[in-house]
Amino acid sequence: MKVQFVTGAGKSLRFEFDCADIKDVFVQMAPVQEIFEAGKACGACQSENVRVETRTHDANRFYSFRCTDCGAQLDLGQTRDGTRLFARRKDKDDNWLPDNGWYKWQGQRGGDESHQQPPPPPHPPARQQGNAYGQRR
Ligand SMILES: [Zn+2]
Repeated sequence: MKVQFVTGAGKSLRFEFDCADIKDVFVQMAPVQEIFEAGKACGACQSENVRVETRTHDANRFYSFRCTDCGAQLDLGQTRDGTRLFARRKDKDDNWLPDNGWYKWQGQRGGDESHQQPPPPPHPPARQQGNAYGQRR
């Protein structure tokens, strides 16, 4: 069964899944929905002008969403096996962050600089190909 899922800011992202059965719809769609609904709109200003970003530091790749209106960003963490992403909504002490985890780089957190440099993932990403966008940079 083919399933189309449209989401993202302005419903501009269309994903297509080839699913074996209804359970497979959940398996394939859940990680995509989790990430792209987290990045649908900025948590600081609610703008839907959000873009995806990646950067590499010490051979580790980091993933985030950035609001092009106010500059806030939402960092994405990686699961231990490096195959999935999740939105970082809590700080390192397991406290919920304001604005659903969206933050600005300077002075927006009352001196909490834990997000100035995201910690490296527990393991390097297992592989880089085949991300949810169907392309990579
Ligand atoms: Zn914003």
